[in-house]
Amino acid sequence: MKNSVKLFLLVITLTCFAFISPEKSEPKLINVVIDAGHRGEDFSATQDEITEKEIVEQLISKIKTFNKNKNIVIHYTRSTDKFIPFKDRTDFINTIKPDLVLSLHVNASPNSNKSGMEFYVSKESNFYEKSNLIAENFQTSFLNSNYKVAEIKNADFYILKESEVPAVIMELGYLTNEADKKSLANNNEQNQIAKKIIECISELK
Ligand SMILES: [Zn+2]
Repeated sequence: MKNSVKLFLLVITLTCFAFISPEKSEPKLINVVIDAGHRGEDFSATQDEITEKEIVEQLISKIKTFNKNKNIVIHYTRSTDKFIPFKDRTDFINTIKPDLVLSLHVNASPNSNKSGMEFYVSKESNFYEKSNLIAENFQTSFLNSNYKVAEIKNADFYILKESEVPAVIMELGYLTNEADKKSLANNNEQNQIAKKIIECISELK
């Protein structure tokens, strides 16, 4: 066979292989565990009768409602209004082995000028790099939609350290800041945040 013919056959063969598998396989399922930061007896941040617990609950129910993507499977660490010990939560997470654990919280500070979203990851996690990358993607996405978002912070919270998968804590804003409190309690704002979170989840690889 002439060399040019051999080369031609090789190219054809490689081209054929290039079209096998990825196109034919089912789209990858994205498993996410969403952890409601505070429930039950644990009310945490409270400002003028608006609690962190209520806001996080409202947001999670919106995420449930708005998720129409069949490839995104969302699991919840709590299905009832009952405090669940951290160990039980991470045991649940480590059984499911999701692509991401997203723990949702609302912040509070003695300084009422402090405002905006914050993301936390743990350097002590074996999945620190992946967690940080995901936090960066969330951060960029919210910044691009004109949200105020702080630098990603390191924190050694139990859920971040003990989850054997990428894990990120998202503080949605400060209840102790007037503007943040207003928007966190606002139905439309909550809808926007819930949709944005689903969008970020859909981009997980
Ligand atoms: Zn919290």
